[in-house]
Amino acid sequence: MSTKRKIEDDYIIKVKKRILKETKDTEKKYVTTYKEIKKYFKIFNKSLFKEKLNTFNDVKIKRIIQGSGQCVEYLSYRKGTSFFVLEMMPKYKNKLEFLNTLAHEMVHLWQQTVMKDTGNHNRLFFSFKSKFKKLNLHLSY
Ligand SMILES: [Zn+2]
Repeated sequence: MSTKRKIEDDYIIKVKKRILKETKDTEKKYVTTYKEIKKYFKIFNKSLFKEKLNTFNDVKIKRIIQGSGQCVEYLSYRKGTSFFVLEMMPKYKNKLEFLNTLAHEMVHLWQQTVMKDTGNHNRLFFSFKSKFKKLNLHLSY
């Protein structure tokens, strides 16, 4: 095992412990903050995406009708560019649901920006299942 690999594995274990500790109380509702989104974006970028992700172009905390979070792509046909907005709900059932949702939307960002993929719930999307599991997270639709 190389030194780099060892450091990566140690980081995964550290993040897993942190998640286990912070999500212990499953009965406690979680109130979303921009600060926590920013903090966990960095943590997940390092532990799940090898720091390949650029941040979302914008983050919004708002009520969402369908699902618990969204990665929305806006296209500028004039400029020929697209930008990505993360939408998260003001409240979650508990912190684990918040973290699962954020990590889920980050996979969509990775698909669309790094892999130039459709961003559907396809094989590429679910290829993260075991990586999520290592952090005690769950990847689902
Ligand atoms: Zn999704």
